[in-house]
Amino acid sequence: MGELLKRIEGNTYYIEGPVNTGVYVYGNNRCMVVDTGSSEDWGRKIYKALEAEGLRLNLIINTHSHADHFGGNNLLVKRTGAEVAATAIEAAIISSPYLEPFYLYSAHPPKFLQNKFLMGKESPVDRIIAPGKLELEGAEVDIVDLKGHSPGQIGVGTPDGVLMTGDACFSAQIAQKYKLLYFTNIGDTLDTLKNIKETDYSYYLPCHGDLETDIRAVVDVNLNAINEVMGIIRWELLRPMTREELGSAVSERLDIQLNRTQYYLNQSCLAAYLSYMTDLGMVKGRIEGRRMVWEAV
Ligand SMILES: [Zn+2]
Repeated sequence: MGELLKRIEGNTYYIEGPVNTGVYVYGNNRCMVVDTGSSEDWGRKIYKALEAEGLRLNLIINTHSHADHFGGNNLLVKRTGAEVAATAIEAAIISSPYLEPFYLYSAHPPKFLQNKFLMGKESPVDRIIAPGKLELEGAEVDIVDLKGHSPGQIGVGTPDGVLMTGDACFSAQIAQKYKLLYFTNIGDTLDTLKNIKETDYSYYLPCHGDLETDIRAVVDVNLNAINEVMGIIRWELLRPMTREELGSAVSERLDIQLNRTQYYLNQSCLAAYLSYMTDLGMVKGRIEGRRMVWEAV
């Protein structure tokens, strides 16, 4: 295979990029890809890599609906007629990308949030898939439940012992640096991270980061970051404060610089922590003086 397609094992390859694209070849030079990068340009790059090897693209699987994971869909669909598959909730956003800035802002978002990081170009989704076995013509892959970073996120396991993990966990370097990693459901994320540690694939391909043979150390760094953030939130909430004030306090503690896009991502992520910690009885929210304040229990 050429230089763009890197072989991982057997019929499983990837195209390296800011968002890695997984490739699985089956049958008579057919293939499927997992995630298509952030833009039409990435779609073109993927198309060229497959074309150079005489591969016919039949299926695109999107692990989840963040804009940097389905940007190449339209170009690939137009040129190859491939089908697009995603889980139900992610398919809703991939086909109506306005929903992403809408949920982050919780109403019609101002134009500065309708940007290329938060809102991709809409793509058709032809097949709704769910965790379990997925039949390809003459082959089969595992669709693995990896929800947490996004509510319907999945990974794809190939018969060559490779698990493509989407954004289920971040590289050790990113996790150590930022700590406040983007997860929208902390309970599901913890379950997903523990489940990943119990799998025994030979290779793990995250969308952001390097191919790993043992992902457990990386998962542990992610778990430590989550525990550290929970500790900071509990500590800060010894003094009752609003989510706005908590966001400011946590960003200061972790030395996080914010632009407006990052601010809304961070607020969303903090909302996920507050929801999880409230349901566990660690913190509580109440109305005080017409403000919603949060405090440690
Ligand atoms: Zn993502």
